[in-house]
Amino acid sequence: MRITLDEDRCCGAGTCVMTAPDVFDQRDDGIVVLLDPNPPAQLATSVHDAAARCPAAAIRVETE
Ligand code: SF4
Repeated sequence: MRITLDEDRCCGAGTCVMTAPDVFDQRDDGIVVLLDPNPPAQLATSVHDAAARCPAAAIRVETE
């Protein structure tokens, strides 16, 4: 699993941080920070949920 972010699209909603806190964080201005671009498989469900719930469609998940 490989995650990429489009920070320009991020509106700082924070949904990803609430859904997958081991993978996403936010800067002081609210923009997303990627903590782990290659998270372990057990986080796949929460990562996919975070991507699906992102209102800005800023999270892309590729599975290997
Ligand atoms: S859910 Fe999307 S818009 Fe909200 S902080 Fe995360 S990446 Fe940004």
